[in-house]
Amino acid sequence: MLPYKAVDEAEAALNRTLTVAETLWLNYSTNKSDYNLYCHNIIFLYIVYTLIPLPLVVVELLGVGNIARYKIQPKVKLSFAQIMSCYNTVIKMFFFVVGPFQLISYPAFKIIGIRTGLSIPSGWEILIQLGIYLIIEDYTNYWLHRALHSKWGYEKIHKVHHEYSAPISFAAPYSHWAEIVILGIPSFLGPAMVPGHIVTFWLWMVLRHVEAIETHCGYDFPWTPTKYIPFYGGAEYHDYHHYVGGQSQSNFASIFTYCDYIYGTDKGYRYQKKLLSKSKVESSNNDQQHGLKFD
Ligand SMILES: [Zn+2]
Ligand SMILES: [Zn+2]
Repeated sequence: MLPYKAVDEAEAALNRTLTVAETLWLNYSTNKSDYNLYCHNIIFLYIVYTLIPLPLVVVELLGVGNIARYKIQPKVKLSFAQIMSCYNTVIKMFFFVVGPFQLISYPAFKIIGIRTGLSIPSGWEILIQLGIYLIIEDYTNYWLHRALHSKWGYEKIHKVHHEYSAPISFAAPYSHWAEIVILGIPSFLGPAMVPGHIVTFWLWMVLRHVEAIETHCGYDFPWTPTKYIPFYGGAEYHDYHHYVGGQSQSNFASIFTYCDYIYGTDKGYRYQKKLLSKSKVESSNNDQQHGLKFD
């Protein structure tokens, strides 16, 4: 909690004028305890998980526009009841596992030293820290996810997440409770190693959830901005991991593709991609020979 109750009090103590961001932060956080600020994550989780997938789910259910052409596994169609069943299961898991875990992990948050004071991070500080968190998360998640594909790990824990062989956005956090705890470690490791301001921590948690939802959306849109991020895996990349299922020893990484490339766990995926692009070229050549048009 901030030691100042008002802007003039803070400016007098610091002997300088507060920036706009600092004034906003002071007005918002001055009467809130650090515990209260930390628990904001639970609210953000519910909001992000409910709202971000919603437009795509509605568009898919209503069959609006030409969206089906971008579906990665077009043969798999889920009903409204099946989608809601997934959503309800995850919400229950948030309530009984993620929420309590957040509440009891507060001492760790204090030990890490994430600050809540007036030294608001600059845009650059936020960007650099988020970049570091992404790399740490990706690398750690790769190995933990790979371990979950061992015989024991898969049968006892990870099988639940793979119930969706064609993922949907709401299935991003659909997992065994133990997997939520295990794969929560990479998400906390970055802030633990490079602690910043709580605003950066909130942004990181939101970014991580949005990224997981996008990766599981089941659609490969050519205009997705993430296509411009170097080595970014995306929906099509992770979809292949779900498509292959329990036997999958391919595409373990959660965000980028370089770990799978370095450790040779993307060979099956790259082979399939090569076959697919070859068959597309052949079918295009045949169509041209027979004078066919595409539109
Ligand atoms: Zn897996
Ligand atoms: Zn997945």
